[in-house]
Amino acid sequence: MAYVITEKCLGEQYAQCVAACPVECMYPGNYKNEPFMVIDPELCISCGACQPQCPVLAIVDSEDAAPDWAKVNKELAPQFKNNPKVTPRPANDPPKKPGHKLGG
Ligand code: SF4
Repeated sequence: MAYVITEKCLGEQYAQCVAACPVECMYPGNYKNEPFMVIDPELCISCGACQPQCPVLAIVDSEDAAPDWAKVNKELAPQFKNNPKVTPRPANDPPKKPGHKLGG
């Protein structure tokens, strides 16, 4: 089981989670022409360190909690893996997309 990044990250990419991950398995990229992040399910150890770092609560704690997004994370991880790291957005930066809000 791995943690999963969901729709709330799409268009946001705060990337606050990256520094918290002990196994460096969170990668940035573009999905549907919007900035996004994924978790590599092959490497994630389900430690939970990333989850509280996300300002919009985009991370869920299992593949079962968001099976469609789990599939997206899994498919994109090999493509995003070698992308250059991105500079995190401030955690209090307002979300860019309507429907997303700080604190979930
Ligand atoms: Fe990384 Fe832990 Fe989050 Fe998995 S649960 S992505 S290992 S910080």
